[in-house]
Amino acid sequence: MNAGDSVTRMRGVGAGVAARLEKLGIRRIQDLLLHRPNRYEDRTRLWPLAALRPGSRALVLAQIDHVELRYGRRRSLIVSVSDAGSRMTLRFFHFSDTQMQRMQTGAWIRAFGEVRAGPTSLEIVHPDYQVFDRRAEGEQLEPSLTPVYPVTKGVTQNRVRNLARAAVAELERPEFFPELLPGALLGGLPGIALAEALRTIHHPGPDDDLAALTEGRHPAVQRLALEELLAQQLGLRLRRNRAQAAPAPAINPDSGLLAGFIRALGFEPTTAQHRVIDEILGDLRHDSPMLRLVQGDVGSGKTVVAAAAAAACVAAGYQAAFMAPTELLAEQHHRNLAQWLEPLGLRVRLLTGSLKTRERAPELEALGRGEAGLVVGTHALFQKQVSLPRLGLTIIDEQHRFGVHQRLALRDKAGDSAGAIPAMPHQLIMTATPIPRTLAMSAYADLDTSVIDELPPGRQPVTTVAISNARRAQVLERVAAACQAGRQAYWVCTLIEESEALQCQAAEVTAEMLATELSGLQVGLVHGRMDARAKTRGLTAFRDGRIDLLVATTVIEVGVDVPNASLMVIENAERLGLAQLHQLRGRVGRGAEQSHCVLLFQPPLGEVARARLEALRQSNDGFEIARRDLELRGPGEVLGTRQTGAMEFRVADLVRDADLLGAAQSGADRLLAEHPDRVDPLLDRWVHDAQRYADV
Ligand code: ADP
Ligand code: MG
Repeated sequence: MNAGDSVTRMRGVGAGVAARLEKLGIRRIQDLLLHRPNRYEDRTRLWPLAALRPGSRALVLAQIDHVELRYGRRRSLIVSVSDAGSRMTLRFFHFSDTQMQRMQTGAWIRAFGEVRAGPTSLEIVHPDYQVFDRRAEGEQLEPSLTPVYPVTKGVTQNRVRNLARAAVAELERPEFFPELLPGALLGGLPGIALAEALRTIHHPGPDDDLAALTEGRHPAVQRLALEELLAQQLGLRLRRNRAQAAPAPAINPDSGLLAGFIRALGFEPTTAQHRVIDEILGDLRHDSPMLRLVQGDVGSGKTVVAAAAAAACVAAGYQAAFMAPTELLAEQHHRNLAQWLEPLGLRVRLLTGSLKTRERAPELEALGRGEAGLVVGTHALFQKQVSLPRLGLTIIDEQHRFGVHQRLALRDKAGDSAGAIPAMPHQLIMTATPIPRTLAMSAYADLDTSVIDELPPGRQPVTTVAISNARRAQVLERVAAACQAGRQAYWVCTLIEESEALQCQAAEVTAEMLATELSGLQVGLVHGRMDARAKTRGLTAFRDGRIDLLVATTVIEVGVDVPNASLMVIENAERLGLAQLHQLRGRVGRGAEQSHCVLLFQPPLGEVARARLEALRQSNDGFEIARRDLELRGPGEVLGTRQTGAMEFRVADLVRDADLLGAAQSGADRLLAEHPDRVDPLLDRWVHDAQRYADV
């Protein structure tokens, strides 16, 4: 037996238990070893009754003075005990006659549980206990602390505890769970052997620092976290190496064409945009695929950068695909890109789910023939009927809205079946959700990163205020004033309920109400349940200035770009996450006017909600906000749930262990160079879905 075997190899574990353990993520014996206790109970020593404090969990030994059966609302058994002149009470609600009979006055009882202040003395409700005839102090005290594991329905604490104990006992045999990290790779950590670290985590001694163990700051936990982070880095390196081994079309951008493109823009790209465009064009020249993430705060002008890449690719005779998360955004991109690229003689098409079959057919046919051009679309792009035999570049906008698998599905559109054309397109991935460095190091270590760290000139930071619903009338006045001054405003409806239908309904009601309350203004409405054409119509009217106030659901969260809009009101702002609020707010502040964002909230505000609104009020910097978001929500949420597959750590925690990432990266490099034989076992041990790293 070794740790890589299924738990069913262990005594007492049949298919039923195995299925329930699986709910805890425990399939193999090693998963038990890596299943960390939530906390520990100290049953290694006895507490004098006089030293007990409410709230502590303690083991006591005392003599039974008095046993009383009470019939109140519930039958209960009250056992009064004392030792060395101090008294306390043990209280039971469920007990058998046999149990009761054993509680004899004069007998000794050892009890463990949480101490609480009772009506007359300290008490423990339902302790774990044993009764002895005489004072049995030294008997059967636990030699180490008792671990308390996360459990789930159908798997008892005792079961997990016993299985984990059995697994830990096997660590006696070095080959059971072999040491894979050479000591030299442990970075600055004290050289704790793997088996030693696991023993400490499961069965710490009375003198180990429990707080450090439960919080994960203990060297034993850090030792495992480092190994896990290192394994993840290895996976990312392999993934990248494999991806880059495939051939991609080498594209030499035509400098005349790019100059024409920039002329057609009508504005001068910022220094940051120029730099990122150069980085991308540099990648495209190689015959191995680009894998580049472009990070740029909302409004930093990522679309222009993507357009330059697409122009280079299409002018070289290839196809480029630009995928956006919503139809609204796809249509907007299509319009902008067509306006920029078609004057250069490059074709730009649109492919969304709501196109009629009649409209799609000729597009699909042209794409299938391999006609050069840029196609902008939504998820519709990776449907079966879509074939892109000359795909040279994929661009994913707002990538946090997509899953890794969707990115791969689009990439896999490349290549003709005869294999005559290089099969791996270049990939450009764009995100407005600034990713804190630690997270980027881990989640996107397989990508090169470019950062657009500059906004187009003349932008003024959005002024943000948080206003209670009680002052809604004042907000209406601001809306009216802004619109009368010739500017435009958004009113974003969010709802408590998850249901989109309800949210849209609320938006409809709000739009009607606002139209009455602000009778001088043209009020429009856009929500997710309107058909695509109606949505586009609403948005176009807003863009053209025929609508003053656009009431919308969060469908306008990403991408929508109307520079004349300078005021945004967000209802129920306390319900939204920081990243989403920042994205929404990014819809204003796009023109030269000073813009404002009003966060309407329903008091009273909870602590986290208050912290979020405050963070938003204080900063317009997406990176700063993302850092706060990471603190408030944790990495899974920040990356978007669909991204988290590769991010589910068993031991490591990207916030807590940020300072281990450097060592994990250099360790991964050294391991690849010096101990290539350890790579597969490490991946197998740690990486949940190791297979996925085989693919990019
Ligand atoms: P995002 O990075 O949020 O996707 P967009 O690409 O939508 O930003 O650009 C936001 C707005 O700024 C658009 O109206 C775009 O045309 C404009 N823009 C982009 N770059 C510049 C620039 N260098 N100078 C002026 N305006 C720009
Ligand atoms: Mg954008």
